[in-house]
Amino acid sequence: MADLPFHDKGDFDDADRGFIAKLSPAVIKTTDGRVIWDNDSYAFLQEECPETAHPSLWRQSQLCARQGLYEVTDGVYQVRGLDLSNMTLVEGATGVIVIDPLISTECAAAALKLYRDHRGDRPVTAVIYTHSHSDHFGGVRGVTDGNVPILAPGGFMDHAVSENVYAGPAMTRRAVYLYGPALSRSPEGQIGCGLGLTVSTGSMSLIPPTVEIVRTGHEERIDGVSVVFQPTPGTEAPAEMNILFPAHRALCLAENATHNQHNLLSLRGAEVRDARVWARYLTEAVALFADRADVAFASHHWPTWGRDAIVRFLEQQRDMYAYLHDQTLRLINKGLTAAEIAEAVHMPPELEQSWHTHGYHGSVSHNVKAIYQRYLGWFDGNPAHLWEHPPRESAIRYVECLGGGSAVVAFARRYIDENDLRFAAQLLNQAVFADEGNKEARDLLAEVYTRLGHGAENATWRNFYLMGALELTDGIVPATMEATALDLFAALSVEQIFDSIAIRVNGPRAWHERLSIDWHLTDLGRRHRTLLSNGALIQQPDPQDELADLTLRLTKAQLVGLLAGKGVEGVEREGDTTVLQRLVAVLDRPVPDFAIVTA
Ligand SMILES: [Zn+2]
Repeated sequence: MADLPFHDKGDFDDADRGFIAKLSPAVIKTTDGRVIWDNDSYAFLQEECPETAHPSLWRQSQLCARQGLYEVTDGVYQVRGLDLSNMTLVEGATGVIVIDPLISTECAAAALKLYRDHRGDRPVTAVIYTHSHSDHFGGVRGVTDGNVPILAPGGFMDHAVSENVYAGPAMTRRAVYLYGPALSRSPEGQIGCGLGLTVSTGSMSLIPPTVEIVRTGHEERIDGVSVVFQPTPGTEAPAEMNILFPAHRALCLAENATHNQHNLLSLRGAEVRDARVWARYLTEAVALFADRADVAFASHHWPTWGRDAIVRFLEQQRDMYAYLHDQTLRLINKGLTAAEIAEAVHMPPELEQSWHTHGYHGSVSHNVKAIYQRYLGWFDGNPAHLWEHPPRESAIRYVECLGGGSAVVAFARRYIDENDLRFAAQLLNQAVFADEGNKEARDLLAEVYTRLGHGAENATWRNFYLMGALELTDGIVPATMEATALDLFAALSVEQIFDSIAIRVNGPRAWHERLSIDWHLTDLGRRHRTLLSNGALIQQPDPQDELADLTLRLTKAQLVGLLAGKGVEGVEREGDTTVLQRLVAVLDRPVPDFAIVTA
């Protein structure tokens, strides 16, 4: 830690540069008074770093906690610190273009108002989504009702909804560990998530784009502003793009280059991102834009000013992702496994001395495991790992071999004394999984997790550890599952809707059912068949015969309503109407608050 470049205060200058005004108080509520954003609750971050936080993460959180309206360059403004992400505003001939309208409509409206209070009541003349993650589009109805051009990278709509559809409930549960909303906001608790402070919890929306950008160098004139696009599919998001504003000499880097090492695989769970492609597109961005920009900004964190600083920043970000990718594969091909590679790879010294390569959100450790997973998957080739007992069954046996729960706790204390908290956690986890009622093991494990959390440079690791400690002590935090926003639900394709039903079929319960339903989607002019056989709900577009047990004629909106439990009123039915009930009878429900730190 002594080697950290604390003398380098450049980020603080950049984070404060162009400051115009704060939102005061920085609390945003829904119309019925529920607080969905509270930047003021992080005021404690301006104190000195306490013993209960890693100084490097504390510094990052101090930077993320700055909030307000900032001038990036003449005609380009950002509102930062009023949600997880930034909203950028580019002034046009007749109004203002909004880039990335935050997560919640309430936050987006508050950000726009803050801008207008200081820059005049300009109408929103266009919206640009830089990529398909919800912290970059969810607030859109807070800035427009949609009668303006909306630009997004190619494939945006597919990815905006698909990433969270199938494994949504599990991701939502794990996101509680990732962001730590149930933790206290305090020097001992939640101090951010590296990319920003946390996520807002207001109303989410989605208005489909009117223009999708697919070609590198594509130019548009939007409200009199000339814009050049660089699509970067498969980087930080499957649909993403960088944007140059040539007249402003300003470069928007979306989320491809931010002031931390980003995730190749979110700890919430996701599909693995491609570090190789990510590095390629950063190389391309330097080649295309370095000589045409005096400032580079992104949809998280603060901008970077000056050509040389921008190039250094982009090249270091590029080298970081390329290095992680190439070194992981080099070591894979020497026979190292994921956990071994995670210990063996370290950032090169020059990168380590730059704050923005530090793992506040992603980390070297979990990113190299993601790369391993992308290329080789879960199995390391060792037959001992091919057919292991599941965690609880293993734990019962390990604890028995070690002489029982109390003996395991005693061993764990020895490792704690030697400051090997990692192994103490492994041991105690066995004791808790073998016997949830072992209070001594639970309390000690909570203590170990707390110390690991307080020592973590990575904010998401900290949140995971502290959430684990909280649930060991207080029990599982009840799920506050947000109902999926209607806009997002309506954006599902018909295939995705039937896929969502298929993954809810309780296989064994449906083993002996066989039924078929034709769904005539009258407004789409399409027929779609679902067939339940051997516990699998198969879908077939445009079947050529008319042999289904039941035919339903309905609109897509009615189909969505049916799924939301609205019943079959107004739906025209023909055939065996009991079929629908038989299908519903085999559907299962996800568990929104499953156990994580206990068996
Ligand atoms: Zn984001």
